[in-house]
Amino acid sequence: MSFDKKYAFDWIEDNKKLIIEISDKVWEFAELGLVEFKSSALIADELERHGFKVERGVAGMPTAFVATWGEGKPVIGIMGEYDALPGLSQKKVPWKETLDLGKPGHGCGHNVHGVSGMAAAIALKKTMEKHDRKGTVKFFGCPAEENFSGKVYMVREGYFSDVDAVISHHPNAMNDISLMSCLAVNSVKFNFYGKASHAGASPEQGRSALDAVELMNVGVNYLREHVIQDARIHYVIEKGGDQPNIVPSYARSWYYVRAPERDQLEFIYNWILDIAKGAAMMTRTEVKTEFLEGSYNVVPNRTISELIINNMREIGLPKYSDEDLEFAKEIAKTITSEMKIAQLKKSKRPGWEKLVNKLIDDDVPDPWGEGEVSHGSTDVADVSWQAPTVEFSTATWILGTPAHSWQAVAQNGVGIAHKSLIFAAKVMAATAFDLLTDEHALNKAREEHKQRTGNKKYRSPIPSDRKPPLNIWEK
Ligand SMILES: [Zn+2]
Repeated sequence: MSFDKKYAFDWIEDNKKLIIEISDKVWEFAELGLVEFKSSALIADELERHGFKVERGVAGMPTAFVATWGEGKPVIGIMGEYDALPGLSQKKVPWKETLDLGKPGHGCGHNVHGVSGMAAAIALKKTMEKHDRKGTVKFFGCPAEENFSGKVYMVREGYFSDVDAVISHHPNAMNDISLMSCLAVNSVKFNFYGKASHAGASPEQGRSALDAVELMNVGVNYLREHVIQDARIHYVIEKGGDQPNIVPSYARSWYYVRAPERDQLEFIYNWILDIAKGAAMMTRTEVKTEFLEGSYNVVPNRTISELIINNMREIGLPKYSDEDLEFAKEIAKTITSEMKIAQLKKSKRPGWEKLVNKLIDDDVPDPWGEGEVSHGSTDVADVSWQAPTVEFSTATWILGTPAHSWQAVAQNGVGIAHKSLIFAAKVMAATAFDLLTDEHALNKAREEHKQRTGNKKYRSPIPSDRKPPLNIWEK
C-alpha cells in the first residue's frame, strides 16, 4: 500500500466517529428529494470547514452543490446523494416499527451515499496537500436521485463538463461492480380536458376526459406487441373524475417509458405522444403533455471498475462486531429464503448461488455483467455520458435485503452500514488518488469511454425550458 493512500486511510480512521455521526444525522433528517436542506448543508459545511470552496444552490436546485479543492488537471469527481423515500420511516430495530408515521425514511442508503463520498474527498485533499500533488478534487452534492433526476439538471447546466473521471458509491447488499447498463427513461404526465355534464340527463353535452385516458391506455397496450423486448411502459391514472353522474372534464395519467438506448426510447415515446393525440381526437377532448424527467442509459467503464475492485481487495472487507451480527441475524429472520434466493438470482452476479447460505457478502468478485441490461434507471447515467464514471456497491445490508424496504431503512443507520461507510470512503479516496496520479490509467479509462460512447452525441433528455419541480411536495 502506498504511503499516500495510507495517509488518506489514517485520516478516515482518525475521523471515523465524526463521519458516522454525519451519516446518522442525515438518516435522522430523512429529507425528500429537492428539499434535503439540512442534509446538504451538513455535508457542504463539513467540506467547507476542510478548505473546499463550495458553490451552493447550483443548477436551479437549492440543495445541489459543488465543493472544489485544488487546481489544474486532472479533475476527479466524487458524487454523493442524500435524499430519502416517502412513507418509509422506520426505527433502528430489527423488526418493523415506524419511527414517525407517514414520514420519509432512508430506504436506499443515501445517508451513507452522501457521506462516504464527502469523507473520501476530504481524505484525498489531505493526502494531496501533504504530498504536494497537482490536480482538482470535486465533490458533487446531488439531490433528488429517487424522483427528479437532480444530476440531469447539473449535467445540463455544465457542472460536469470539466471532469476527467467520476466515482460514486451506493449502499447495497453486495460488494461489487456490475458493468451492466440500465434503461433510459422518460417520465411524463398526460392531462386531458373535456367538458362536464349530467351523465344521466344530458350525456350528449359532455366530453369525457376519462374516456381519453382509457382509450390512450388501450392504444398503448396494443403498442406493446411492437416494441423491443427490453422496453418498459408503465402508467397510473392519477385523476379519473369525481363521481359517476358527472362526465369527467379533467383526467390525468402518468407514464414511465424505458428502453436500453435513448434513440430506442424516443421512438417509442413519440409513438405514445401520437396515441395520446389520437385518444384526444376520438373523444373530442384536448391533451396537454407535461414532461417530468428523463435520463440516459449508463455507460460502464471497466478500467475504473478494476481500479476500484483492486482497492477493495487491498483494503480488505470490514470486520463486524458481535452486536452487528446479532442485529443482522434478527433482520435475517424477517427475510424468507424464497425472497433471498429471488433477490440473489435477480442480481445476476455470477456465482450468486454461493451466497444463499451466507448472512453478509464476504467476497469481492471481478466486475461482471458486461453487455447486459438491468431494468431500472438512474441519473448517474447522464454523468456517465460526460466522463468515465463508475458507481460501486458495498455490503451495507445483509444478503437478500431488498432496497426501499423497512429492513434497508433500519440497517442504514446501524453497525454494518457504519462499517460499509468507512470502507467505501477508503475505496473512493484510494481510487480517486489512482486517477489523479496514474496518467496511464486515466488515459485508458478515457479511451474506453470514447469507444463505448462512439460518435453518439449526448443531448439533454430534459427540455431546455424545464426547471426542477421545486414545489412538488407542496401539492
Ligand atoms: Zn439509491
